[in-house]
Amino acid sequence: MRLPDDTAEQGPTGLRMGERLHTAEHIIRTVVEENGYGRFTSIRLKKNRGRATFLSGIDLSSKRQEIEEKVNQVIGKDLPVKKYTTPRERADVINLDLVPESVREVTIYEIQGFNRLACKGPHVGKTGDVGKCTILSIEKKEGTYREYFIHYTVE
Ligand SMILES: [Zn+2]
Repeated sequence: MRLPDDTAEQGPTGLRMGERLHTAEHIIRTVVEENGYGRFTSIRLKKNRGRATFLSGIDLSSKRQEIEEKVNQVIGKDLPVKKYTTPRERADVINLDLVPESVREVTIYEIQGFNRLACKGPHVGKTGDVGKCTILSIEKKEGTYREYFIHYTVE
């Protein structure tokens, strides 16, 4: 017999969905950047969707399928996601462009064997917990020259 509490962890809502979307963003970001397709600038999460913004010198929308496949390969490896903090001056190998100067103690999320990014979190404990990532669309932001939105979700 099921107690009411058994359902507490069910459903892709709330914080846990946020953790999955956040972790997916780290993977998408590195896939795009390491393939030279663009540079990450910002993220916005809304319920069960994420929107990552990149500056790109190519038609990023042509890479939708490739990006989705590579992201899901990383998810499929079920890599551990570790969190640690380090003084800003010792985080020199990590890109801190997006971290305000006032932050002296930087939180790093490391997807072991894949990437390390400065972030406030929260994130899942292993990439397999993200679930299947779908890149819903990649569109150029209207009125801009090189700015693209990657819309995605996780199931
Ligand atoms: Zn993050």
